[in-house]
Amino acid sequence: MLEFLRSDLIDLAAYTPHPGGKPSHPVDRLDTNESPFDLPKDFKEKLVQAYQEGIATNRYPDGSHGELKRAIAQYVNESAGLENVIDASRISVGNGSDELIRSLLIATCVGSDCSILVATPTFSMYGILSQTLGIPVSSVSRSETDFSINLGEAKYTVERNPLIRVVFAVHPNSPTANPLTQAEIEWLKSLPEQILVVIDEAYFEFSQTSVVRELEEHPNWVILRTFSKAFRLASLRVGYAIAHPDVTATLEKIRLPYNLPSFSQIAAQLALENRDSLLTVIPELLKERDRLFAAFSSHPNLQVWASSANFLYLRPRSPQLSLAKWVETLKSKGTLIRHTGGGLRVTVGTPEENDRTLERFQALK
Ligand SMILES: *Cc1c(COP(=O)(O)O)cnc(C)c1O
Repeated sequence: MLEFLRSDLIDLAAYTPHPGGKPSHPVDRLDTNESPFDLPKDFKEKLVQAYQEGIATNRYPDGSHGELKRAIAQYVNESAGLENVIDASRISVGNGSDELIRSLLIATCVGSDCSILVATPTFSMYGILSQTLGIPVSSVSRSETDFSINLGEAKYTVERNPLIRVVFAVHPNSPTANPLTQAEIEWLKSLPEQILVVIDEAYFEFSQTSVVRELEEHPNWVILRTFSKAFRLASLRVGYAIAHPDVTATLEKIRLPYNLPSFSQIAAQLALENRDSLLTVIPELLKERDRLFAAFSSHPNLQVWASSANFLYLRPRSPQLSLAKWVETLKSKGTLIRHTGGGLRVTVGTPEENDRTLERFQALK
């Protein structure tokens, strides 16, 4: 039955982090790395006003994203201390950075014999989206001590497999929260120009470290960012790529013409205009992260790693420990965390949520 469906999609699991809608009992959603803070009320009021006065819902959205791209370019320059190096021609906007990942795969690999390289554990969407497009995925390992990419293995794999056309790196990585090291950056710089290097900076506002200054010298690099994390707009799906103008021009050909609703566009613009106030909660979140880190450091059964993002990664000290059982127990008490890559990823929440997280972890056996 249904033999028209591709057989390789049958076994592929859909990405379902948690079911949508309001849960029946209160839960702390610490499994998807969003900000724990909704937009401030006055911001929402401004947004509603902009919606009332500025959006004709019977009309298609601005399909060129002109204003938004200019605002993003300005933000990218400002936050990197650059003078107008990045202009709107180097920005492409997507329905979340997930869309841009897919567009990059279409731009490079679809219809030709090539594959991508990832270092696991890492963000799962690179692999999932590649599989849906029939693109083979090569993976290399990371150090068990600091989760940096196993560079010997990576170099060997790229040399041996001339079909690799895209390398995905995350800065800092999810789920392990470590930023790229100098040695990793040197390796990425050394990759031949026919390989596209995608550096995903979804957590830039938390890490405050970026490779954007390298873009001019490396036309084969693309940086991805998102409004889903620090900017608190996860529900509105806005991500962007910073890249060589020829790359962004190709991304524009690939995307759907009206990929970003008008409401999302004005929300992202407003978020950038109000960035100083929206991002003021970041130092507080980082303090909370450090508090969680210190508390987890004394946990008898878990090892925790330093984090450059808004989440922590933990692994059991003993392989006998059943993480799946722990995750279920925490869930039954109302704390959702992510079990991935042989460890646990815990998003930093509000101070109250973090108190409950620590209490519930202490009670685990
Ligand atoms: C959360 C996250 C994203 C964001 O994806 P959106 O589609 O923009 O919401 C991208 N990359 C990584 C590594 C992430 O953790």
